[in-house]
Amino acid sequence: MQVIKSIDALRAALKPLARQGKTIGLVPTMGALHDGHGALIKESVKDCDVTVVSVFLNPIQFGKNEDLDKYPKRLEADAKLAESIGADFVFAPSVAEMYPEGDPLTLVRDEALECMYCGAYRPGHFRGVLTVVSKLFLISGADHAYFGEKDYQQVFLIERMVRDLNFDIKIHRVKIVREASGLALSSRNEYLNELERKQALSISEGLKTAKDLFEKGERRVALLRDCVIKSILANRGQVQYVEVVNQKDLQKFAGALPADAKVVILVAAFFGKTRLIDNIELN
Ligand code: AMP
Repeated sequence: MQVIKSIDALRAALKPLARQGKTIGLVPTMGALHDGHGALIKESVKDCDVTVVSVFLNPIQFGKNEDLDKYPKRLEADAKLAESIGADFVFAPSVAEMYPEGDPLTLVRDEALECMYCGAYRPGHFRGVLTVVSKLFLISGADHAYFGEKDYQQVFLIERMVRDLNFDIKIHRVKIVREASGLALSSRNEYLNELERKQALSISEGLKTAKDLFEKGERRVALLRDCVIKSILANRGQVQYVEVVNQKDLQKFAGALPADAKVVILVAAFFGKTRLIDNIELN
């Protein structure tokens, strides 16, 4: 496996492989890899001839007061993990390599969630994500790209972007990987102290309770939402949002769910200073 830091070198490595008819899979990450990322890499290795894992902490998707500076960085360990799963390349460009002229003047902006859910609380976040993902698609020329449902809004927006802008790439969704406790794996879990980590279980527990209620026939949106909120509040979490939305367009449901509803509950909450997101589908 090769670690490549320049765009030209990655293109020089991948273009001949593509010309030979090899399929290229891309797994975009911000590093500090864990088994959630591992699941994406595994899927790519299974489907594609060549797997590229990008490790890039993208500054333009972070707000001024967010955790860009303290985000965990460990490229060597990331490369080892990626290699152990069968990745062929780790692409780890510097910020100067990706944005040589400073902040880009051309951005890919979504109109769907700019002011909703994470979009409302992290202005400019999705725009930063879609811009860097577009760059990675164009740089790698990948045929397939893998995204986790942990970031449900993100994968929704990327699928839509690919359709809207005719990127010639197939997007694959990978289910959320959780600890045995239920906590969704996240690089940000490393910020949690022991107590916060226990309290943070209230997110997945609340979501599980909502799913159980739904499976028993509960269709009142307020009730499903409230059981998640109560679980988090009872464990000293601060709820940013909990919303019961349609899987198809991520629009909110109100009142009672229609009989054929395909639902996902989206959550963002703070434990101490750490902001966590999670979700669960109800089918
Ligand atoms: P990140 O490095 O946090 O930007 O994540 C890179 C990719 O890994 C994104 O597509 C995430 O959705 C995915 N991912 C992160 N955590 C998990 C998880 N626990 N389960 C599945 N996918 C995940």
